[in-house]
Amino acid sequence: CTPGGSRVKEEKIFVTVRVRPLSRKELSLKDQEAWECIDDNKIVFKMSSQDRTNSPSSYTFDKVFGPTCLTERVYEEGAKNVALSALTGINATIFAYGQTSSGKTFTMRGITENAVNDIYKHINNTPERDFTIKISAMEIYNEIVRDLLKPDSGALRLLDDPERGTIVDKLEEEMAKDSQHLRYLIGTCEAQRQVGETALNNNSSRSHQIIRLTVESTLRENSDCVKSFVASLNFVDLAGSERAGQTHASGARLKEGCHINRSLLNLTTVIRTLSQGKRGVHIPYRNSKITRILQSSLGGNARTAIICTLSPAISHVEQSRNTLFFATCAK
Ligand code: ADP
Ligand code: MG
Repeated sequence: CTPGGSRVKEEKIFVTVRVRPLSRKELSLKDQEAWECIDDNKIVFKMSSQDRTNSPSSYTFDKVFGPTCLTERVYEEGAKNVALSALTGINATIFAYGQTSSGKTFTMRGITENAVNDIYKHINNTPERDFTIKISAMEIYNEIVRDLLKPDSGALRLLDDPERGTIVDKLEEEMAKDSQHLRYLIGTCEAQRQVGETALNNNSSRSHQIIRLTVESTLRENSDCVKSFVASLNFVDLAGSERAGQTHASGARLKEGCHINRSLLNLTTVIRTLSQGKRGVHIPYRNSKITRILQSSLGGNARTAIICTLSPAISHVEQSRNTLFFATCAK
């Protein structure tokens, strides 16, 4: 019998860093690995002796995963506990944060797949409860929310519900019949994100994607255990964290960059404030759509894991440092 559903002690945000391998292109350009992961939780800059920027040469996190590390391990050690808490009524969010091409989508896909496997394993091992899994999915691009399960719906509005908090009006929600059906639905959301890229002249590096599973369960027979649980589990693949200015954007692109920047920046402010864990401090959830949508799954009773993805390349060191700075603020 699990104690879920009742309020748990406020958890700190679980922050990990994953460094991808050098790509074929980077290898062909003789780019080199700038980072080394040691001791399971420390990442060090290999060229610190030549570094004139006064930046830290090492950073410590809950876990660090080097380029040879498989996604299964990233899931087991960096996301599993947070994901499974949704089975006992605790809202949970798993983010991938990092610059474009650092491995966010690659990592989130693997994390989602592993979590789905685990959820159904748990369901099969818990015959005393009846489970319902529902899925919804959205993309936020330029502060416009689009349904990835029902792409013809156009821009969706956010509404404030006195009981449920912020809800996405008319967001499609589908019940998964089994694990295979759930995987199929997740696949259609991912495909839809790619269709949207071309249709809106958008690019996934500039939008946030949220896949939300709603996990409900009720006890079949009376016992002392908590009778029913309901929780959201959010998988969030964030827009690229690079700055608008650094990509030499102008015009419409700059506007997009600013939106992304503003919503990502606001998300980072929310996360930093939550991680400081001070009581009575204002948390600016309402300043961006992503934080409004995720409010009930961040902070308070909710559990959060952030996987910061890093390019290994020397040529990306500046962006990697920005990511590590964010990761440091989040822990
Ligand atoms: P992002 O979503 O951050 O822009 P992607 O997830 O698309 O980045 O990754 C960029 C490229 O690197 C893709 O071709 C992806 O398959 C590859 N890649 C990312 N992470 C890994 C990894 N850990 N191991 C192997 N290849 C990876
Ligand atoms: Mg991506």
